[in-house]
Amino acid sequence: MTRFPKLAVFDLDYTLWPFWVDTHVDPPFHKSSDGTVRDRRGQNIRLYPEVPEVLEQLHGLGVPVAAASRTGEIAGANQLLELFGLARYFVHKEIYPGSKVTHFERLQQKTGVPFSQMVFFDDEKRNIVDVGKLGVTCIHIQNGMSLQTLTQGLETFANAQAGS
Ligand SMILES: [Mg+2]
Repeated sequence: MTRFPKLAVFDLDYTLWPFWVDTHVDPPFHKSSDGTVRDRRGQNIRLYPEVPEVLEQLHGLGVPVAAASRTGEIAGANQLLELFGLARYFVHKEIYPGSKVTHFERLQQKTGVPFSQMVFFDDEKRNIVDVGKLGVTCIHIQNGMSLQTLTQGLETFANAQAGS
């Protein structure tokens, strides 16, 4: 029997979208008349293409989703989640600078889900190292979230459960 995590946590920059929201783009953002999301200068803003489907699949599996980001551009990050129609998937959002240990301790307190029942996707090794020490199954991603990365993460989680 495949066991699914009780919480899937995502970094934002270079995990859901291919830029640093505090550096490479210029908030505030808006939806233009052609339906695209643009920043203050009119630059077109995109997600990694499979991200909406990744979140929809987790929703279908009944796995709640949270965000853990160290960005200082808190308003801009929240605005992008809204404009891309993704905010409804996130039961909790921990978005502020500092070690992600803090983000995960708060997620644990808010959800009651033990660290061992969480899976975490992030592109930065330092976060993988910090959060991995808590006992969270951590997936270090290279080219943004994709359906394949999601499958790998769920398999890694299931194998960790089987081995414990
Ligand atoms: Mg990142």
